[in-house]
Amino acid sequence: MFLCVLQTRDRLWLSLGEKAPTLVPVSQVMMCMNCTADFSLTVRRHHCHSCGRIVCRSCSRNRYPLKYMKDRMAKVCDHCYNELKKRGNKKISVG
Ligand SMILES: [Zn+2]
Ligand SMILES: [Zn+2]
Repeated sequence: MFLCVLQTRDRLWLSLGEKAPTLVPVSQVMMCMNCTADFSLTVRRHHCHSCGRIVCRSCSRNRYPLKYMKDRMAKVCDHCYNELKKRGNKKISVG
């Protein structure tokens, strides 16, 4: 069972940015799926366009060109940003 979960997750990370993610329905999420901050009137929900998870603003500060958007810059969560940067750091110059 553990193996199965791992494989599914690996597949998701492998296709990161290459196809549109299944967006998590906003209404079902009460806290950031990255840092677990509670959403409120001041803490707004943001979709990560790479993995489709809902994160708070401070977890979605980064943008990255996504393949499925024809390499247009899209809002991604910190986690995806790190993953994508690791793979395609030739494209992006830091700074
Ligand atoms: Zn967060
Ligand atoms: Zn993400």
